[in-house]
Amino acid sequence: MSKVVVLTGGVGGAKLVLGLSHIVAGADLTAIVNTGDDFRHLGLHVSPDIDTLLYTLSGKANAQQGWGREGESWAFMEALRELGGEDWFLLGDGDLALHVLRSDALARGETLSQITAGFAARWGIGTRILPMSDDPVATMLDTDEGRLAFQRYFVERRCAPAVSAIDFAGASSAVPAGGVEEAILAADAVIVAPSNPFLSVDPLLAVPAIRAALARTAAPVVAVSPLVGGQAVKGPTAKLMGELGIAVDNDAIARHYAGVIDGLLIDSGDDCGVAGLAIGRCPTLMSSLDDKVRVARAALALAEGLRP
Ligand code: GDP
Repeated sequence: MSKVVVLTGGVGGAKLVLGLSHIVAGADLTAIVNTGDDFRHLGLHVSPDIDTLLYTLSGKANAQQGWGREGESWAFMEALRELGGEDWFLLGDGDLALHVLRSDALARGETLSQITAGFAARWGIGTRILPMSDDPVATMLDTDEGRLAFQRYFVERRCAPAVSAIDFAGASSAVPAGGVEEAILAADAVIVAPSNPFLSVDPLLAVPAIRAALARTAAPVVAVSPLVGGQAVKGPTAKLMGELGIAVDNDAIARHYAGVIDGLLIDSGDDCGVAGLAIGRCPTLMSSLDDKVRVARAALALAEGLRP
């Protein structure tokens, strides 16, 4: 399959993108990345999901920790703490370089797309990485502790608050970044990574022109379920589904993506009984690189079988 688009969030999604990048050459693979997690912190523009993907595809990710860079040093955080600065969001010294350069370039009028492409080129990443939009979109949660911005909920409060509703401020008027709609419309397959459907994929789907492009494209759209054995591999997906009154199973994932996907790849041991959807199966837990390539192949095979 020549042209593939993958919609992705953070760590869970980046695993699949890495697998896909071993099958789909260079810029034939376009990753469209959630920016609903982006926020301003200490005067800097932080784009956590874009950075996770940059680190993963350039071999700089800290695999054990699950976020940030390998071999990171923490002199900045130590100095910050000494001075009484807010320390709930950890900024490693190497990581900080991206936020400083990004913030400076944004202030000079460059777009997030241009800045991201610059970092990717610098690190020799062939996959095209596009933010979903250059316009600001902010994931917001209504919780039993009040309304929280995404990073306050996810990092500072470690997903402890019970969530009653999620919305994406700015999404309805956001325009997709340059190349996003074109890539979706020209794709042979669109893959939705096993990122958190409610926090990482929904912000993309909340941008009207992205949803419209997914409806218009002739390419089959296939999602990889984030559930394995009725549980999320990590993160708040299952907890969130419970709080929102949604059953934690693949039927619920399929219904959540109704009207967007044509197929769902689920774990070999799992089931999905939603009618009218093509179901693929393989072991979907991605630990090793081989796992990631296997899941990527299975997602592409499911899409291939659905091509007109
Ligand atoms: P993260 O919160 O930064 O990891 O961002 P994502 O939204 O991209 O990923 C979270 C989701 O990825 C969770 O719902 C996990 O269940 C899912 N996930 C993580 N690793 C795997 C994996 O190896 N296989 C599958 N199928 N899902 C995964």
